[in-house]
Amino acid sequence: MATLSLRLSPPIPTRTFRPIVASSNGTLLGVASSRPRSTGGPVIKEIPLEEIRRPLMRTRANDQNKVKELMDSIRVIGLQVPIDVLEVDGVYYGFSGCHRYEAHQRLGLPTIRCKVRRGTKETLRHHLR
Ligand code: ADP
Repeated sequence: MATLSLRLSPPIPTRTFRPIVASSNGTLLGVASSRPRSTGGPVIKEIPLEEIRRPLMRTRANDQNKVKELMDSIRVIGLQVPIDVLEVDGVYYGFSGCHRYEAHQRLGLPTIRCKVRRGTKETLRHHLR
């Protein structure tokens, strides 16, 4: 009778892989964390331009040379530093990053990478003062 020998191989070490998050132009945004995200800190998000309210936009003129330089650079290497955005009750407000925002608009890009912080109506009032 044939003897059946069973060889038990050592357990294969398991590795966990964390997905790499990249934007549409291939720029590395970061490595997704397997830990639950903390609720308080800023998060990096691609947000459609038209979803960002810019209450001070009409009162501040952008330097068109800067915008042009940013357009040339963003076209080649993508946005390297996200713009700061405040989120209040699910609505996004942008008060800075005006040149980067206009460069995206003029390039016809649908979204812009943002660093989103949550705030209250009081934070918003403070920005509008
Ligand atoms: P903004 O009004 O958008 O803040 P600034 O001219 O004051 O315009 O600053 C431009 C910012 O854009 C700088 O902080 C720079 O580091 C950032 N930046 C992000 N992506 C790029 C890029 N691709 N080329 C040049 N600057 C970039």
